Amino acid sequence: MTDNLWHNIIQNLQGKINSQDLEVWFAGSNVVSSSQERIIIEFNDERKKNHVENFYLTQLNDAVHTLLGRSIKIDLITNQWQPPKPYATISLQEPEQTPPLPTTNQNYTFDSFIVGSNNEIAQAAALSVAQNPGTENNPLFIWGGVGLGKTHLLQAIANKLQQEKNYLKILYTRSEDFMNEIIAAIHKKETSHFKLKYRYVDVLLIDDIQFIEGGKVTQQEFFHTFNTLYESGRQIVISSDRPPKNLTYLTDRIINRFEWGLITKISSPDLATRINILKHKASSLNLTLNEDLIYFIAKNIKNDIRNLEGALTKAKFLQQHMHTPITISNISSILNDYIPTEGIKKQITLNDILLKVAKHYTITKDELTSKSRVSKLIQPRFVAIYLITQLTSLTTKEIGRQLGGRDHSTIINARNEIQKQIAIDPQLKSTVQTIQASL
Ligand code: ADP
Ligand code: MG
Repeated sequence: MTDNLWHNIIQNLQGKINSQDLEVWFAGSNVVSSSQERIIIEFNDERKKNHVENFYLTQLNDAVHTLLGRSIKIDLITNQWQPPKPYATISLQEPEQTPPLPTTNQNYTFDSFIVGSNNEIAQAAALSVAQNPGTENNPLFIWGGVGLGKTHLLQAIANKLQQEKNYLKILYTRSEDFMNEIIAAIHKKETSHFKLKYRYVDVLLIDDIQFIEGGKVTQQEFFHTFNTLYESGRQIVISSDRPPKNLTYLTDRIINRFEWGLITKISSPDLATRINILKHKASSLNLTLNEDLIYFIAKNIKNDIRNLEGALTKAKFLQQHMHTPITISNISSILNDYIPTEGIKKQITLNDILLKVAKHYTITKDELTSKSRVSKLIQPRFVAIYLITQLTSLTTKEIGRQLGGRDHSTIINARNEIQKQIAIDPQLKSTVQTIQASL
C-alpha cells in the first residue's frame, strides 16, 4: 500500500539528500494517505516535520514527480499523540508503524464470491466501488442477515483495491473497533490520532455498523469523519444487519447520510445458489460429493452460508481422516450440528402449533379447540388450522377430530380462507410467518 510508495520515495531521496540527514529527518515518518490529489506524510516529531518543510520540500516534490509522473500536493503533518523518540533508536529500515489495521482475509475475493439472485445487486455495486472508488454508489450500504456474505464483500473490495490501486489508503474496520477507538481517543483527550487515522483515508469500510452505539460525542465524531471523507470524494462502504432506518440508536442526520448513496440488501440464497456455493466450496476443499448429497445439504441448510461451509469441512474430515463414506444418513447427523433451530426433518406436532398460536393471540389452547364462536377466537383458530395443514402430514379428517370433533369440510374451508387472506393481507401474512418461525 502506501508503505510501498514511501519506500520508493525514500529510495529516490537517497540520491538527493545525504544519508545521515535522511536518517535523522525522515526516520519514523510515513505516507499515511495518498490519493490522486494529494499525499500526506506524517512525522512523529514536530521538529522533523518543520525541518523537512523548510529544507527538503523541493527534493520531496521532485521525488514524487519522478515516481508518479506528475506533480501532486504534499502535506506534512505530525502525529503528536506519540512522544518523540530519541533519533538513534529509529532506523529507516523499520519505520514506526501506526497502530496495526485489522487484516483482511485474502480468500474473500470477488472470484470466490458466488453470485445469485439474492446478492447480485450488492455484488455488482461492490465491484463497481472496487473499480472506481468515490465516484458513484457513495456511500455504499450493504445489509442482510448473518452469514450471507457482507464481510466477504467488504473485504473483497479492500483486497481488490489493495492489489490494483495500492496508492490508495484503504481502511477496513469493524464498527466495535472504530467505536472503541473513538471512545479511547475522547477519554484520553487525544482525538487527533483518531482523526488522522480515519479522516485521511481514501476508502473506509465499516463492517457491522449496528454495533456502533454510544453517546452523542461518539456519534458526532463518526458524523464528522463521514462528512470529511464524503465531501472530499472518498469512498465509504458500510455493512449492517438491518436497513438504515432500523438503526434506531443512530441519529437521524447520520441515517440520512447513509441514504444519500446506494442501499442494497443481501437476502438468503435460494436453493440453486446454495447448490452453486456448495459445489464451489467442495471443489476448493478437494471434496467429492455426488449431486444427491449436494442437493440434500443445500435443501437442509438455508440461511447462514457459514453453516454450508461448516458441513462441508466436517464431511471432509469424516471422509479423509476417518475414512467414513459420506452418505445421506451420516450427513444428516452432521447437518444437525448446523441447524439447531430447524433440525433435520423435525416433526412439528399439532400440539406445538396450537400452543404457539394460543400464545401469539394470548388465548388458551382449550379456547382454540373449543366450540365457542366468540369472534376473537375465529381468526386464531383458522390460522392454527392453516398451519396444521401446511406443517404436519395429518389428514383434514384427523385434524378435525383433534380439534374438538370438527368436520373435515370445516378444516378445508378454514385453510382455504386463510390462504386467500394471506395473499391480500400483508399483516396476516406476517403474523402467520412469525408463528411459523417460532415453531
Ligand atoms: P456476514 O458478514 O454477512 O455475516 P460472511 O461474509 O462472514 O457473512 O460470510 C460467511 C461465510 O460464507 C464466509 O466464509 C463467506 O466466504 C461465505 N459466503 C457468503 N456468501 C458467499 C457467496 N455468495 N459465495 C461464496 N461464499 C460466500
Ligand atoms: Mg460479517
